[in-house]
Amino acid sequence: MDANFRYLQGACFFCLAKTNKTWCDHCEYNFILDQTRCPICARNSSSRNPCGSCLKHQPFFTNTEVLFNYQYPGDHLIKAFKYNNRPELANIFAEKLTHKLKNADFRPGMLIPVPLHKHRQRERGYNQSLEFASSLGKLLRITVNSSLCRRIIDTQQQSSLPMNTRKNNVKGAFKLSHINPFDYVVIVDDVITTGSTVNEIATLLKKSGCRRVDVWAIARTQF
Ligand SMILES: [Zn+2]
Ligand SMILES: [Zn+2]
Repeated sequence: MDANFRYLQGACFFCLAKTNKTWCDHCEYNFILDQTRCPICARNSSSRNPCGSCLKHQPFFTNTEVLFNYQYPGDHLIKAFKYNNRPELANIFAEKLTHKLKNADFRPGMLIPVPLHKHRQRERGYNQSLEFASSLGKLLRITVNSSLCRRIIDTQQQSSLPMNTRKNNVKGAFKLSHINPFDYVVIVDDVITTGSTVNEIATLLKKSGCRRVDVWAIARTQF
């Protein structure tokens, strides 16, 4: 972890300005609010229309909401959440996303966290996507279902693979354990990279009869 980024009481995580929040309003504006994104995949875009990539290969999900980009300095906050054992950050991320969604009129029947393979879950102790989904579920009063979708193949971490092999890496990696009873569900992830993981799960959900699948995540890479 970069020595410049410390999780200090009473200081902004990013700029160390005095604040009683995790990050200050100035940083909130720069990292979270001042971003125009493709409504489908949440990549940065010059307009709020679907991006070229989504028009060319339409994903199985309809809409993606993220808080910030997975790049400096937001990536440091995610790393603090993931590897430095700060699970309480899940509540802060969930509060921010809830705030962002407050004017939206959509209401999914269920939240589905992207599962870890049982070996990785045992190794890490907790699933950060499930932590985030649980916090969102409490705030928005939406059921979280962590047993519907299972990861049956312990795929290599997407971020460790070259871009062109990531799509095949997740093919067949997930399985739904029972029929999902809802028309509209949301997949919850921590970081979206190519979108292949959430798209693979969305494909399964659509095949099982879902009409709409959305994605909510903390951060997104921009390539
Ligand atoms: Zn700041
Ligand atoms: Zn897009």
